[in-house]
Amino acid sequence: MTDVRSAKFAIEPNDLQWIIGKLVSHGYRVIGPTVRDGAIVYDSIAHLDNLPVGWTDRQDAGQYRLEQRADAALFGYAVGPRSWKRFLHPPVERLWQARREADSFAIIEDAAAAEPLAFIGVRACELRAIAIQDRVFLLGQYVDKSYKIRRDHAFIIAVNCGQAGGTCFCTSMDAGPKVDAGFDLSLTELVEKDRHLFVMEVGTAAGADMVEDLPGRPATEEEIEATEQVVARTKTQMGRSLDTRSLKELLQANPDHPRWDEVAERCLTCGNCTNVCPTCFCTTVDDTTDLSCTTAERVRRWDSCFTLDFSYIHGGNVRSSARSRYRQWMTHKLAHWIDQFGSSGCVGCGRCISWCPVGIDITEEAAAIRATADPQRRDADGRA
Ligand code: SF4
Ligand code: SF4
Repeated sequence: MTDVRSAKFAIEPNDLQWIIGKLVSHGYRVIGPTVRDGAIVYDSIAHLDNLPVGWTDRQDAGQYRLEQRADAALFGYAVGPRSWKRFLHPPVERLWQARREADSFAIIEDAAAAEPLAFIGVRACELRAIAIQDRVFLLGQYVDKSYKIRRDHAFIIAVNCGQAGGTCFCTSMDAGPKVDAGFDLSLTELVEKDRHLFVMEVGTAAGADMVEDLPGRPATEEEIEATEQVVARTKTQMGRSLDTRSLKELLQANPDHPRWDEVAERCLTCGNCTNVCPTCFCTTVDDTTDLSCTTAERVRRWDSCFTLDFSYIHGGNVRSSARSRYRQWMTHKLAHWIDQFGSSGCVGCGRCISWCPVGIDITEEAAAIRATADPQRRDADGRA
């Protein structure tokens, strides 16, 4: 394949297998979508057959079901419960160990994971979520060393969404469904009655190197036009929407809105929404010693603003009610995050809606507050 960075290419599904093989031969652990326990989750894959061939999903508040498609699409579904956060910012990670030595002790730092990871099937909203976590872990005052190593070595093959899910609202958050940056290669799947191919775009020099020997041909005008129609159609399929106009000001002006009491009656404070969210990054640390007190270790693990321990400070918990914890999560995500990091903390992936066991819907909660906010607390333009 020549001149790979100046054109779009048409490749066959088998060419994708060729790319997986080349990634493996370059030492990458390849991770992609696969079906497990009735859901599409990201895990190690070795072959195209490991992808959810011919599967799609049906999602709504508190609901997720897999269904068979009428075709053999490889990427014909929306995002599932796992995000790439699990691989770049693992749920459990040992930070260091200490070993007792005579009258002192020695710190043994864990070698940060150097295994390069290749992600296949990264959606536009997920690229945005990775960019948001980059802002948190790499671009602040302190750089997270192990995240940086994993991120520096990650190879990303993105996919333009050919189908939106019932809880998706990435268009509201300006985070999809078309991928525009942050990928090494991107694919748009064209699966029709008489053809099944991908239009591939090269995003980086690493992407160009990976496919320079790939047998392929330039995509035709008609094929490129067809991919644009795929994205345009997906835009019209969003299952949810969120009115983001002055949303930050609206939420920050309404900490005592009665809707917080109403949602608190339903919220189980289980933390599922923070676990599945691709941008939530809060952690805690556990320090332990072995029984002989010769070694100690510090382990970091995901935490959630829905746990009581999370906001425990000397003498008690500052967010003891479900009301205060749900309000904290939603206002951080949609309002304070903008003050803190310069963007919303939500990319509209819809996971927190689908995987909330009682079907609490962040778009519905925001709309309810907007509809009934105290007129005195509207913004300068008179908008609630
Ligand atoms: S909003 Fe839903 S998922 Fe989140 S803590 Fe409450 S019950 Fe759990
Ligand atoms: S808040 Fe919900 S919709 Fe927004 S990014 Fe997190 S999981 Fe996705």
